[in-house]
Amino acid sequence: MHKTASPPKIVIVGGGAGGLELATRLGRKLGKTNQAKITLIDPSRIHLWKPLLHEVVAGSLDTGMEALSYRAHSAENHYYFRLGKMDALDKEKRQIRLAPLVDHHGKQILKPRHIDYDILVMALGAHSNDFGIEGVSEYCFKLDDAQEAEDFHLSFLNRFLQFSETAHSGEVVSIAIVGAGATGVELSAELYNAVDRLEQFGVENIHHKSLEVTLIEAAPRILPALEEDLACKAQKTLEELGVNIQLNKNVKQVTPYTLHTADGDIHADLLVWAAGIKAPEFLSHLALPVNRINQIEIDDSLLVKGEDNIYAIGDCAFLKPEEATRPVPPTAQAAHQMAKHCAQNITRQITGKPLKQFKYCDHGALVSLSRFQTLGSLLDQLLHKHWVIEGKLAHWAYASLYRQHQLAVHGYWKTLWILVESLIERRIKPKLKLY
Ligand SMILES: Cc1cc2nc3c(=O)[nH]c(=O)nc-3n(C[C@H](O)[C@H](O)[C@H](O)COP(=O)(O)OP(=O)(O)OC[C@H]3O[C@@H](n4cnc5c(N)ncnc54)[C@H](O)[C@@H]3O)c2cc1C
Repeated sequence: MHKTASPPKIVIVGGGAGGLELATRLGRKLGKTNQAKITLIDPSRIHLWKPLLHEVVAGSLDTGMEALSYRAHSAENHYYFRLGKMDALDKEKRQIRLAPLVDHHGKQILKPRHIDYDILVMALGAHSNDFGIEGVSEYCFKLDDAQEAEDFHLSFLNRFLQFSETAHSGEVVSIAIVGAGATGVELSAELYNAVDRLEQFGVENIHHKSLEVTLIEAAPRILPALEEDLACKAQKTLEELGVNIQLNKNVKQVTPYTLHTADGDIHADLLVWAAGIKAPEFLSHLALPVNRINQIEIDDSLLVKGEDNIYAIGDCAFLKPEEATRPVPPTAQAAHQMAKHCAQNITRQITGKPLKQFKYCDHGALVSLSRFQTLGSLLDQLLHKHWVIEGKLAHWAYASLYRQHQLAVHGYWKTLWILVESLIERRIKPKLKLY
C-alpha cells in the first residue's frame, strides 16, 4: 500500500448487509480516532436489510419503521456517507467514478464525481438473474431493493381493492412466482398471511381462497439449500395454504400476465421473478477477475485476486476456499461474517500486520413461512453435528439473524430500544401496512 501523510482513505461501495456492517465497524475503530477516513457509498438514502423485503411486499413490515438513514448513522458512527452509484474504476489513479445523480424525473442533480481511495471495498451485492429471458425485466416484479418491494406491495393492495369491489364468483387474485428458493417460498407464505389479515380487517369479498399463488421451479424440488425432508415439510405447508407448486418447469419467455413454459402457459395478475442472482454487469468491465455471473473473484484474505488494496465481500464476491466443496453462499449470514473479517484485515493492513485467512462458518439454513411455520437446520461446526429445528425455536433462530445485523450496526443499547419500540408498535398498529 502507498504511504500517505494523511490518514488512509477507505472507500466502501454498497451499504447493504455487508457494506454497512463494515463501515460501522471501521468507523468505530479507525474513523473515531482519525486513523483512517472511511466513506460509504450507496445510491439509496436509506438501508433496509434485504431479507426483510418479502415482508415489505406483503405489508407485514413497514419500511418507514425499519429503515436506517445512512446520513444519520454515519454521523453517529464516525464514517462519511456519499449518495451515488459507482460505474467505473481507475486502478492506476486509485479512483472510482460515481454516475451522474438524477432525481425521479430524470433531472440531473449532480454531475459524475471521482472519489480517491487507498483501500477500496466492493460490497455492492447482487440482483435477480433473468438469465437473458425475454420479458422478465418488463413484466415481472423483482425483490432487489426496498423501492421495488414497495411498488409490488402497492400493486398487490390495488389488485385486492379491485377484486373486493368487482369480483365475480369463482374469480381469484392470481400471483405467479418463479423460483422456489428461500425468497419465492417465504414470499408465497407471506402473501397468504397478508390476505388473511385483509379478511380480518373485514375487506369485502376477501378470504383466504381469494388468493391463488403458483410457485414455479425449474429443479425437481423446492428449497435446494435445505435437506430434502425439510423441503418436503415446507412444501406440504405451502400446499395446505393453497400454493400450487409446479416443479421441473422452465420459463422460456414472459409476456404481459403470462409465463411461457415448454409445457404450456401460466397466466397470473402479478408475476414475480425470484430465480437466482447475478452481480451487476459493470463489474465485468473493471479489469477485475469475475466469474460467469459477474461476481468478483477473491482470495481467502478477501482481497480481489491479483490486487493488494481492493477487497470484495458479500453477494458480489466469489470465494471458493481450496478445502471446501462449494463456494461461500450469497447469504446475509456470509455477508455478515465477511464484513467482520474484512474489518479485521483492513485494520491489520494499515497497521502493517499480515492478513488473516477467512474461514466461512456455516451455521445452517432456516426458512420462515410467515406465521405458519419456521423450519431449518442448525450446524455446530465444533461438534460436527446438525440439528433440525422447527416451530418457536426455529422462529427465534431465524429472527436472531436480523438481531445480529442490528447489533452490528446499532450496538447493544440502541438494538434493545428498537426491540422495545417494535414490541409497542406491534401492540398499537395494524398487523398489515395498508398504504
Ligand atoms: C427477499 C430476500 C430474502 C432473503 N432472505 C435471506 C435469509 O433469510 N437469510 C440469508 O442469509 N440471506 C437472505 N437473503 C440474501 C441476503 O439478503 C443477501 O445475501 C445479503 O443482503 C447480501 O449482502 P450484501 O451486502 O452483499 O448485498 P446487499 O445487502 O444486497 O447490499 C448491496 C448494497 O449495494 C448498493 N449498490 C448496488 N449497486 C451499487 C453501485 N453501483 N454503487 C454503489 N452502491 C451500490 C445497494 O444499494 C445495496 O445497498 C435474502 C434476499 C432476498 C432478496
